Amino acid sequence: MRYGSGTARRLALGFGALVLLFAAASAVAIAGSMRIHRGLGEMKSREEGVRLSLELASAVRDQYAHQAHTIIIGDASHLGFYATSRETVLRLTRALRQAAEEPEERALVDQIEAESGRLDGIFRERIVPAVLAGERASVKLEHDRAQLVVTKIQDLTQALVERFEAKIRAFRREADVVQRRTLGFLVGLLVAAPGVAVIVSVVIGRSIATPVAQLHAGAARIAAGELDARIEVRGAPELEALARQWNATTAALREHQDRLVESEKLAGIGRLAAGVAHEINNPLGVILGYAKLLRKKADPAAAEDLAVIEEETLRAKEIVDGLLDLSRPLPAPAQPVDLRALTEDVVSRLRDARLLDGVAVSVDGGATAPGHPDKLRQVLVNLVRNAAEAAGPGGRVAVRVAAQDGTAEVAVEDSGPGIDAANRGKLFEPFFTTKPRGTGLGLAVSRAIARAHGGDLAADPGGGGGARFALRLPARAERAEA
Ligand code: ADP
Repeated sequence: MRYGSGTARRLALGFGALVLLFAAASAVAIAGSMRIHRGLGEMKSREEGVRLSLELASAVRDQYAHQAHTIIIGDASHLGFYATSRETVLRLTRALRQAAEEPEERALVDQIEAESGRLDGIFRERIVPAVLAGERASVKLEHDRAQLVVTKIQDLTQALVERFEAKIRAFRREADVVQRRTLGFLVGLLVAAPGVAVIVSVVIGRSIATPVAQLHAGAARIAAGELDARIEVRGAPELEALARQWNATTAALREHQDRLVESEKLAGIGRLAAGVAHEINNPLGVILGYAKLLRKKADPAAAEDLAVIEEETLRAKEIVDGLLDLSRPLPAPAQPVDLRALTEDVVSRLRDARLLDGVAVSVDGGATAPGHPDKLRQVLVNLVRNAAEAAGPGGRVAVRVAAQDGTAEVAVEDSGPGIDAANRGKLFEPFFTTKPRGTGLGLAVSRAIARAHGGDLAADPGGGGGARFALRLPARAERAEA
């Protein structure tokens, strides 16, 4: 599973959303100001157009005034001034053509140019020759025509000015609209930004900051020695995985610690037992020997009492041997043990010893595991004996031998009353027994043997209401199949 990108993705999405919001706001502001800037440029060129049109109208009036002066003076002395004013008209017309951007505006400039050319033609070709020839009637007629042309040019420049001004008004209106729209959009984005920031921080807080705080609190509890504390984390998948791994580690640590405490306890008992066992075993052997000897010679009443001494001495020996078993370390598992064959042998011997009377015992499956046959036999004897005692006459004991995923398992299940919930935690403690004549060492010794093999012995809930004890041993792959 890949978790690495979860937190990074959340952070990138959160901050990305904010950055996008501000990028959008900036883009809108830039687009708006560019539009207004372009509009201002166009407005400026139209204002230039208005100025040029008005100047042209005044230049045409000048041109007409110089024509009038020539007519009034009656000679060619004013023609120089006229030529200058004509030049000004031509220059302004050219400049106006530059300012005119639309076809209608250019058409008006064309008309002005044509009419101005016509005015010049009337003056040069008709009025000046008529003035010089003194033909007053003709001068008057041509002067009237020139006046009409001047009026037309004034109307055309006025039309051009109006067009330019209309354009300027339109640009102003558009700039107003763009400005309002941009402002509205920016205000909207700025109002939304705190909301988005709150959402982003809540999302990041929930999926990252809170889980990290929970991890921190959980780690602090574990560091303070609360090994049963579990960290509950909901958020980014990698943090949930971290909490799961953390919980698994503390569970393993707790189990390891429990085992250590238990094995220390057993070792302590073992060391004590080993110290006295030798001293006790010898007198016990002597007592047993004499009791047997005396029983052969004794009368029936005394023989019965001697049998009790013999039996109790054997029980004392059994306890001493059990304690010694707890103290002796086992060397590494030695040889492959056929667990099915071993179980069948155990069942058959127990049956011969009349310890399974009235109990139906079945053995299924098969598996092999490396181990010490005598020690494993001791475990199986304990388990099958306990199961048969719990099942009682008319009861059933089912032993299932199986190998799976590198583990060999011998499960002993009985039809007895099962294990009391109150006793479940104490079953494997040395000297815990519910039987009047039990030693309480069988399960403790059996578990110590299982663990010395690298395996374990556990009490699982049985399927049919009875008890189920499972001996699990590491089975090497090549030896796993029976
Ligand atoms: P002992 O058999 O001497 O009592 P063990 O260590 O073998 O010692 O067993 C400890 C206790 O575990 C038993 O006294 C009994 O209460 C319980 N126990 C063991 N096996 C079973 C079983 N199959 N069903 C119910 N209880 C069991």
